[in-house]
Amino acid sequence: MNNGSAFQQIGQATVARIFEISATFPASKLLPDFDPALVRPDPADRSPSDPEGSQLNVSIHSWLVRIGNLTVLIDAGIGNGKRRSSKLFDHLATPWLDRLAAAGARPEDVTHVLLTHLHTDHVGWNTIPGNGGWVPTFPNARTYLPRRGYELFMSLEGRARPNYDMFADSVLPVIAAGRAEFVSPEGGEVLAGFTYLPTPGHSPDHMSILLNSDGQEALFAGDVLHNPVQVTHPDWCSMYCESHEEARRSRQRMLELAADRNIPWFSSHCAETSIGTVSRDGDHFAWTFR
Ligand SMILES: [Zn+2]
Repeated sequence: MNNGSAFQQIGQATVARIFEISATFPASKLLPDFDPALVRPDPADRSPSDPEGSQLNVSIHSWLVRIGNLTVLIDAGIGNGKRRSSKLFDHLATPWLDRLAAAGARPEDVTHVLLTHLHTDHVGWNTIPGNGGWVPTFPNARTYLPRRGYELFMSLEGRARPNYDMFADSVLPVIAAGRAEFVSPEGGEVLAGFTYLPTPGHSPDHMSILLNSDGQEALFAGDVLHNPVQVTHPDWCSMYCESHEEARRSRQRMLELAADRNIPWFSSHCAETSIGTVSRDGDHFAWTFR
């Protein structure tokens, strides 16, 4: 896997991946609909490290976008030292902040954090230990989060969710510090060049982010898909998707958008470079790593 931070240019914007961790899942676990008989023998369909296609690699990372005087972090990973029920996420101690610095940003340089949705692997670096609890990692940043996710976790149902701890230690301290902004479910441009698009399904609050600079676009699709095999099989949902019907509709819509406007897809969880080009291949879509 490529864990480097090579920069991509989108108009005036430079984009770097800030890697956190990787993991491997049995395909039938990550994608319960996965059917090896339907997977074409195309190396772009799955991790080339696994010719059988029975194991899928997953990367967890953030994207750093720098444009003009904006330093924007898209999604905030898992974070260090957080107590989590998942072994994969529990009490991490990764050099993520060093990787952020290597990509050219100190915490105080980050002007905005844009969250695609409120899940454990997307909010963690919002906070670090401080004052006997958790304090904002990025002292100068405005943090945008989907209002629907905020409302969900403020509700009785949300408080009973097993992942409520991520809301308590990684989202509420940012809100308490007066640094949060809420994105309405219909989305829209929250910052010059950065537009939220509603893509519910993976979670009720899930949104994707479209960057436009000088007419060049990039789609930060979040968890609309977890593996390129879902590009050829958009009806396959992940084990984490809450509403499969909605997730399929959102996936189809984003694949059409990316293919028809030739917009590079910056994925939250695809391995390799985590960036792909989506094209039409007859009735299907195809993915090429970029
Ligand atoms: Zn995720």
